[in-house]
Amino acid sequence: MASKKEAALAATPSDSPTIFDMIISKEIPSTVVYEDDKVLAFRDITPQGPVHILLIPKVRDGLTGLCKAEERHIDILGRLLYTAKLVAKQEGLDEGFRIVINDGPQGCQSVYHLHVHLIGGRQMNWPPG
Ligand code: 5GP
Repeated sequence: MASKKEAALAATPSDSPTIFDMIISKEIPSTVVYEDDKVLAFRDITPQGPVHILLIPKVRDGLTGLCKAEERHIDILGRLLYTAKLVAKQEGLDEGFRIVINDGPQGCQSVYHLHVHLIGGRQMNWPPG
C-alpha cells in the first residue's frame, strides 16, 4: 500500500470528481458524524488518532484546495472551522484537538476536494512531519 506521502505525490491537482463526491452522494459508505445542508463530517478511513474526522463542503465550488479560496468562499471556510469545533465537542475532545488542512503535493494533499482534518484523542507533537 502506498504511503501517505506517495499517495499525495501521485495525486494530480484537478477539478475532476473525487471519492468525496461519492461519499456525499452516499454511493460509497462512510461513518457520518455530522451533516447539514452545507457541511458533511465523516470518519477518516485511515485514522491518525482515536478520533479522526474529515469535514467537507457538500458543494466544492472550485475549492479543490485551500489555495483556490476566493472571497466568495469565506462563509463556507468559517462554517467548516466552526463545525469542527462543534464536532470536537460532540466527540468529547475536551482536552484539545488538532485541525489540519493539507494543500498541494508538498502539503501532502491526496484528495482534491477541500477538507478539514479534525484529529484528537491522543497527545499531539510539534513540529508536524
Ligand atoms: P489529504 O491527504 O488529502 O489531506 O486527506 C485525504 C483523507 O481522505 C485521508 O486522510 C484519507 O485517509 C481519507 N480518505 C480517502 N479515501 C477515503 C474514503 O473512501 N473514505 C474515507 N472515510 N476517508 C477517505
